[in-house]
Amino acid sequence: MRSLVFLEHHGEELEKGSLGVLSKAASLGEAAGVVLGPGAGALAARAGAFGAAKAYACEDEALSAPLPQPRVDALSALVEKTGADTVLFGASVLAADVAAGLAARLDAGLNWDVTDLVLSGGDLVGKRPALGDTVLVDVGWTSSPRLALVRAGVFDPVESGGSAEVEEFGASFSDFSTLATLVEQTQEEASGPSIEEADIIVAGGRGLGSPEAFSLLEELAGALGGAVGATRAVVDAGWYPYSTQVGQTGKTVSPKLYVACGISGAIQHKVGMQGSGTIVAINKDPNAPIFDFCDLGIVGDIHKIVPKLTELVRNRQ
Ligand SMILES: Cc1cc2nc3c(=O)[nH]c(=O)nc-3n(C[C@H](O)[C@H](O)[C@H](O)COP(=O)(O)OP(=O)(O)OC[C@H]3O[C@@H](n4cnc5c(N)ncnc54)[C@H](O)[C@@H]3O)c2cc1C
Repeated sequence: MRSLVFLEHHGEELEKGSLGVLSKAASLGEAAGVVLGPGAGALAARAGAFGAAKAYACEDEALSAPLPQPRVDALSALVEKTGADTVLFGASVLAADVAAGLAARLDAGLNWDVTDLVLSGGDLVGKRPALGDTVLVDVGWTSSPRLALVRAGVFDPVESGGSAEVEEFGASFSDFSTLATLVEQTQEEASGPSIEEADIIVAGGRGLGSPEAFSLLEELAGALGGAVGATRAVVDAGWYPYSTQVGQTGKTVSPKLYVACGISGAIQHKVGMQGSGTIVAINKDPNAPIFDFCDLGIVGDIHKIVPKLTELVRNRQ
């Protein structure tokens, strides 16, 4: 297997999710990272630390804005140049657009929402949840190159201590690829780590009773140095930002500690957090499904327990 892994970056940082995909690809065969945009060369060099023997960089100004079509041009040229048989992406809004565009351009098969990749008898097989994440199905490809969009956060980056040879390449862009321009880009201001990166997540559900009660979780997360997550029920209700939603249609997270507060533990939430190291659940209903898969369960009212927990953590510090 000779794969190219699209390494998305924002500013000076390579996305953790795409580095996780690179580590996975390197464990299965020959893997090269691809960074696109001004400054790509310096970022590409970092791919070696995560298992890539080689990294490709295209610094063309046409790749400055995070728009998909010029990236499709650059990647399709690179697939042709390298003869790569597999192109992998860590899911994001941009990566999904680029992967779909590349599939159309190369007339290639794209498996999306892949949660694992294995080699079976020399063939690459993807694992993909189906039927509301209640079953895992094996997916394959009937043509080359094989394209896959990996669910965000399922693979952790593994530092290999290696280094990558960086090769710069040029790309030409179709007229239609450069028609779109980025009009405006805004950034959400947030303090503390994001839920994708946090080692500790304190997550809240409908059991909080009101959006104001999220301040209890923010205080506990602040004391623990963690981030606040949420269920779909509360983000749909407008209680907390969509960017914090954990689960099937939200983000997949795997912190060392996940504290679920007033969360029932529906399957669609569980699939996004079941990879956490230790799961603590606080729920007033002893029969809540979350008690079937948590490591420590506390039956009680979050409004009473969470402030006490915050106080205890602060006192210990
Ligand atoms: C296609 C699809 C995709 C979905 N994707 C997602 C997803 O990505 N993420 C997600 O989270 N959900 C998702 N859902 C929704 C999911 O099915 C659940 O409806 C949702 O997770 C429930 O959220 P909740 O636990 O906050 O609310 P509820 O299920 O209403 O649970 C609230 C819990 O709080 C407890 N409680 C109430 N008051 C207190 C209190 N004072 N103290 C302690 N405990 C209290 C209750 O006992 C209850 O267990 C999806 C659903 C579908 C159909």
